[in-house]
Amino acid sequence: MCRVTGCRICGGAVEEFLDLGRQPLSDAFRRPDDDAEEFFYRLAVGQCGDCTMVQLMEEVPRERMFHEDYPYHSSGSAVMREHFTRTALGFLGTELDHDDAFMVEIGCNDGVLLRTVADAGVRHLGFEPSGGVAALAAAAGVRVRTEFFEEETAAAVRAAEGPADVIFAANTICHIPYLDSVLRGADALLGPDGVFVFEDPYWGDIVAKTSFDQIYDEHFYLFTVRSVSELAERFGFALVDIERLPVHGGEIRYTLARAGARTPSPAVAEARAAEDARRLTAPDVLTGFATSVAAIRDDLVALLRTLRAEGRTVAAYGATAKSATVANYCGIGPDLVSYVCDTTPAKQHRVTPGMHIPVEPPETFAGSYPDYALLFAWNHAEEIMAKEEGFRASGGKWIGYVPDVRVS
Ligand SMILES: [Zn+2]
Repeated sequence: MCRVTGCRICGGAVEEFLDLGRQPLSDAFRRPDDDAEEFFYRLAVGQCGDCTMVQLMEEVPRERMFHEDYPYHSSGSAVMREHFTRTALGFLGTELDHDDAFMVEIGCNDGVLLRTVADAGVRHLGFEPSGGVAALAAAAGVRVRTEFFEEETAAAVRAAEGPADVIFAANTICHIPYLDSVLRGADALLGPDGVFVFEDPYWGDIVAKTSFDQIYDEHFYLFTVRSVSELAERFGFALVDIERLPVHGGEIRYTLARAGARTPSPAVAEARAAEDARRLTAPDVLTGFATSVAAIRDDLVALLRTLRAEGRTVAAYGATAKSATVANYCGIGPDLVSYVCDTTPAKQHRVTPGMHIPVEPPETFAGSYPDYALLFAWNHAEEIMAKEEGFRASGGKWIGYVPDVRVS
């Protein structure tokens, strides 16, 4: 266990403002009969007093999170498949629209984006340390290196294959505590006019919605436009564009270029000004967020206890990584939620990390609807509610907790 004593980016002092308690690995789904000791760490968040980077106070070793059995498949959601296909086509029509273009993706998962680049016959390479999903990418015709992207591996690719026009990452960069090595790797690999583009959950949205379940082991950093700007400048880059994305509960796509290579879009300064106006980095705003998180926990647990006392049946929907934070922070176990249904075969017939709620396939849900369903996968609410319209038609009610606890 690695205890963080200073900012992982600049070495400044990190002030803790939220403690979500003892937590398991968010993706460690266990067999019901597995009685091996479970790994726990303390999930707490702080902000650096110097560079303003919001980060976890404790670091989980990466091999514990990203391994052969990593269960998250990016292609699992139709909305995300469409998002990444559109993203790939965007790059193919702009940055990659010349001879011998080269795109590298960090954390390519099952190849959901790079397969479109591969199909277009454009040179590409994915880094994916989780062997299971990397094999799926390879099977889809994507070139993959089953290893972590860092300074040494990036330099090796540059030496063997030349500079990249685009380095892209989705829901990956915020996972990486040793971001200094990643930025030095990008510096080694990127061409003079290349772009390093990454999209991750936006801390500004997390605060606005009190979506504290975006905080879990894999999300080591919670970015703002300001903290990413400062990060970029520290490593010889500049933040030249940002784009708000509606996926995963609110993200930003950041575009970095070499310092001076491109003119920043007005969107960057506008977003910085908006963050300043709402005092996003102010200590009282951060402690206010922590107070709101505790209020959601109290409301949600009170509601579930009342429903169970009334004899109602309650299931949950979506055994997401972020639901581990909610269940373990709130103490929601099988006594309050009898099972959670999920479409991922690797999670089914296992139990959730820490609280050990059984995971069932969606057929269990559709076979006999509960009275209430706690929507853990709230970021896919529209997609799920459309697919499960029979639940509401039968009198079932959804329970949400972002931005506050509500029944609908
Ligand atoms: Zn710092």
